[in-house]
Parts: sequence; C-alpha cells; structure tokens
Amino acid sequence: MQTQILGLVTPLMALFFAATFAVLWRVGRMKRHVLGFGIAYALSAVGFLITHFLPADAFYVFHATQVFYTLGSTVLIASVCERAGQRLHLGSFAVVYLISALTLGLAVSLSNDVGPRLVVINVGYGVMFAMGVTTLLTARRRSAIDVAIVAVMAFQAADFLVRPTLTLLFEQSIPAEVYRDSIYYSLIGLVLGIKGVSMAMVLIGATIAEWTTALRESSERDALSGLRNRGAFEESMRNLLPRAQTEGRPLSLVVADIDHFKKVNDIWGHQAGDQAISGIGKLIGKTVRGCDMAGRIGGEEFCIAVWNCPNGPAERLADRIRLAFASLEHSGLSDNIRLTASFGVATARAGETYEQLFARADAALYKAKSNGRNRVENAEEQGLEEATPKPNAEMIEFKYADAGR
Ligand code: GH3
Ligand code: MG
Ligand code: MG
Repeated sequence: MQTQILGLVTPLMALFFAATFAVLWRVGRMKRHVLGFGIAYALSAVGFLITHFLPADAFYVFHATQVFYTLGSTVLIASVCERAGQRLHLGSFAVVYLISALTLGLAVSLSNDVGPRLVVINVGYGVMFAMGVTTLLTARRRSAIDVAIVAVMAFQAADFLVRPTLTLLFEQSIPAEVYRDSIYYSLIGLVLGIKGVSMAMVLIGATIAEWTTALRESSERDALSGLRNRGAFEESMRNLLPRAQTEGRPLSLVVADIDHFKKVNDIWGHQAGDQAISGIGKLIGKTVRGCDMAGRIGGEEFCIAVWNCPNGPAERLADRIRLAFASLEHSGLSDNIRLTASFGVATARAGETYEQLFARADAALYKAKSNGRNRVENAEEQGLEEATPKPNAEMIEFKYADAGR
C-alpha cells in the first residue's frame, strides 16, 4: 500500500508541471513550445502510471511504458529545440525507437529478467537526449538559461545511458514478478523525481524569462507602425550612440515625416491616415537591417538609427524608402493617390549627444520640406548647417503652421 501511494508522487508531480506549462502557455499567450513542455510532462505521467499500476510481469507493460516515455521525451526535446530555433530530425528519433522496441521485444521473449529490458529502453532514451543536446549545441543563442537547459538535457542523457547498467551490476538479475520490490525500482522513483523537477524548474525559468521579454517588447512597441515608440527609441539611442562613438563606428540618423498629412486626415478621414502610418511603418521595418533601429517618434514622424553606416549609404537608404513609399498603395485612399514623405539625414560626430544629432537631422528634414517635399536632405552636405539655423520653438511653430499650405 505504502509503495502504491509513493508511486503516485512522480506521476502527480508530472501532471502538476503539465498543468503549469499549459497555464503559462494560455495566460501568457506564449509560443507553442511551452505547450509542448506541458504535453511532454502529461505523456510522461501516463508512462509513470503504466509502470506503476500495470502488472510488471505482463509482456506488454514495458512496451506500453516505452511508447509513452518515447512520445514524452520526443515532444520535450523537439520543444526545447524549437525554443532555441532548431529543428529536430524526427526521422532519426523514429529509427531509434524502432530499434529499441524490436530489441525490447527480443529481451522480453528471451528472458524473464527485467534487467536487459531496462537497459534497452533506457539506452534508447539516452540516445534521444544526446541527439537533442547535439542539436542544441548548434544553436546560435547562448544565454545562461540556454546553457542550463543544455546541462540538464546532458544530465538526462548521461543518466539514461549509464544508470541502468550500473544499478544492475549490483542487483544482477530481477525477475519480472519482483521488479517493484527491487533496489532498482526504489532508486528510479527518486531519480525520475529529481530529473523531472530539475528539468521543469529550468524550463519554467526559461518560460518566465521569455514572457517578461515579450511583455517589455510589447510595451516598447508602437501598435500602429510596429516600430519602437518614442520613449523606447530615445532610450535605445542613448545607449547606441555612445557605443558607436566608443567603438569608432559611424552611426547615421534618418528622420522622416509624411508630406501634407493633415490633408490626408481631412479628406479621407483619420482611419485612412492611420493606415498610411501603418504602411510607412511596415515599409521602414522591412527595409532596415536587424542591427538598425527604427521608431515612430511622433504622429507621422519616424526615426531610423542606421548602425555602422556612414553618411552616403544612409542617404541612399532614406532615398530608397522615399521612392518605395511614393509608390505604395494605401487601402483607405482613392486608387490613384500616392503619398510622399520628406527625409533628413545626419551622421553622428565625435562627442555629439542624441539631442544634437537629432536636431541636425531634423533641420535637414525641415530643409527638405521647404525645398519642395518628397526629397532627402543631408545635414553633412556643405552649406546646409550655415543655411539652416538650429530649430528653436519659434521655427517649430512656423514649420507646423506652414504644413497646411
Ligand atoms: P508637412 O508636409 O509639412 O509635414 O505637412 P503635414 O500636414 O504632414 O504636417 P504635420 O507633419 O505637422 O502633420 C501632422 C498631422 O498628423 C497632424 C495630425 O492631425 C496628424 N496625426 C498625428 N498623429 C496621428 C495619428 O496617429 N493618426 C492620424 N490619422 N493622424 C495623425
Ligand atoms: Mg507631415
Ligand atoms: Mg509631422
């Protein structure tokens, strides 16, 4: 009776972790690998229950356990790999399972000793975890939590490959009828418990870390354009600019503003205006590189920090976006209507602050507006600085008053 109750601890714990992952997945709207962790624990729980409650001397009991443990391990390893952006070769897993199942069949038919059966099935799981570890080692991402996951997986692999043989060296042979009274069986409850808890702890930690990152990113995103909002952009710039200056890399800033946008709102309505903002946001988002940073810093004003990019290429980037935007269709506007935008470009100087750099790029944008709009002006071009006074409150007033003409 006591053994029966104790045997419930591991499956109940696995079910508890299955429920925890399911809740995290649902409430946190997490990616499907988190649900995968939950499904893996649920499948393993069924495996534990079969081992514990079906007659140990029945010929099918090890096969049934093996099916559920294999499914659980495969879903777990595949989910861990998916989290790291790696794809598992499921065909190889199927081959390992088939070889293991056939060898198990042979072991069951040849002897009443459960020792060989245990070695066969555990070596199969060990090979699967080892394959998972090698797949994970090829992933690019290596945070502390990724290293912890690989370590726990490697521990699982080593345990499956070594423990059964070592234990059986002491116990020699275990007839099927007395399997649940063996040292092996009492040890396995402990080992599975430790492995199940340590794996779950690391995976729950990883899931919570992913959740907080996603929450932070969504609070920094502007919903309409999909780019960073103003606060997040400025915050990131205050880190990026000194980094570029210390590393001696060129950093250019592009400022863009849609032309005559008030008229768009007046003629086609605010919703159509919103769609145009979303359109240019997506265009900017897909044009810039992963190392660049783009944000919506005002109503229809955008900024792009072009990392490690000198002035000329940054100006060409701005012009590419200008041309692409000028030919972009907008669903809320009449078919033949195309919008345009004006751009200012500046490249950071030694010791310059973000505010100073922005003011120069914005002055170039102002120049683009006053030179007829739908153009790019460059703050580094000779004469621009002299010709364009630094914007002050009065000028900004004038700029916006001028906009409706
Ligand atoms: P200019 O060519 O000089 O830039 O002229 P403009 O009409 O575009 O002038 P300005 O840049 O000052 O216009 C900004 C307008 O953008 C004012 C405001 O009505 C509109 N706007 C600001 N935020 C939003 C928004 O979230 N949605 C929509 N639809 N319009 C917005
Ligand atoms: Mg405008
Ligand atoms: Mg504007």
